[in-house]
Amino acid sequence: MKSWQAKLVLATLLILFPAGVSSCPAKAPVPPGGREESGAVDNAAEEQEKEQVVARAPAAVVSPRAVVPGDFVLLAAGPSPAGTLVRLETELPVAVSPPYRHGEYTYFILGLGFTSPPGNHRLALFLEESGGALREIYGALEVLAPDFDAISFTVPAWRTSGWDDQQLADDRELVRRSRLQTGPYPLWHQPFIIPVPGEVSSGFGQIRIINQGPPGHHTGIDIPAVTGTPVKAMNDGVVRLAARLLAYGNIVILDHGMDLSSSYLHMDALAVETGQSVSRGQVIGCVGETGFVTGPHLHWEVNLGVLPINPMQLIKGDIYILPVPATAR
Ligand SMILES: [Zn+2]
Repeated sequence: MKSWQAKLVLATLLILFPAGVSSCPAKAPVPPGGREESGAVDNAAEEQEKEQVVARAPAAVVSPRAVVPGDFVLLAAGPSPAGTLVRLETELPVAVSPPYRHGEYTYFILGLGFTSPPGNHRLALFLEESGGALREIYGALEVLAPDFDAISFTVPAWRTSGWDDQQLADDRELVRRSRLQTGPYPLWHQPFIIPVPGEVSSGFGQIRIINQGPPGHHTGIDIPAVTGTPVKAMNDGVVRLAARLLAYGNIVILDHGMDLSSSYLHMDALAVETGQSVSRGQVIGCVGETGFVTGPHLHWEVNLGVLPINPMQLIKGDIYILPVPATAR
């Protein structure tokens, strides 16, 4: 491959995965069947043919390439002809978004569960073209050992006085179903923002023992703030739930598309209704201390399907601004 052509391929991939909003820019992998730069090739026609095969061979790009359990990655496969079905296989415990097809590329978001084992893992992608041709390509992902801190604390009995177990179970089911109401396209077209400014008091993944119960991972991020502080939507979306529940308190769940949702718990008051569309930065409620809490704060959670993933990773820009669907232009 001539150097300018190599640059063109790289430039194409960099446009697809703009490095400007990521802490870990995607680098073009050597596609399967492709090769690194080699010496001179005698036959010009043969060289040209090989270049075309290399340039058009589909590849998988994983970004970021190294994560900890609870993180997520963006996976892209392509180019491939229209109508190609892309299927992912991995031994990792992952939540996978619906495939989002744009141009010649298919995108997935993968969320890694807390039990993801550290080490190097292979992501196998099967590309089935409408004519029946099947290609298999691979992406590599390194899972690093997590370093979650641990804490134990008590929530006073008066906070939960009169709570009904059946109602708590019904609330959990309502939240679960609300997070699964989503569409196949990203609804966001700008970077994600923090919903409330302030110091984090309890980070994502923290191992917590509450009221001497069994240890569990913190599924979101706690930001203490004065009651009444406005809470802003971290990006464009649709309100799938705005309700007062027992343990969750006043909660809003926003669907951002592609199985990605953000949840805002324990609010004092709600400023939106179920079914409403909201814009990035729009006030959806205010900080409070409703539900299972020790004081006023926002519990801010991001889920891929029902799997909690690290909200701060969105803020750091580890997810790219995916290409805007043609229907939303
Ligand atoms: Zn929390």
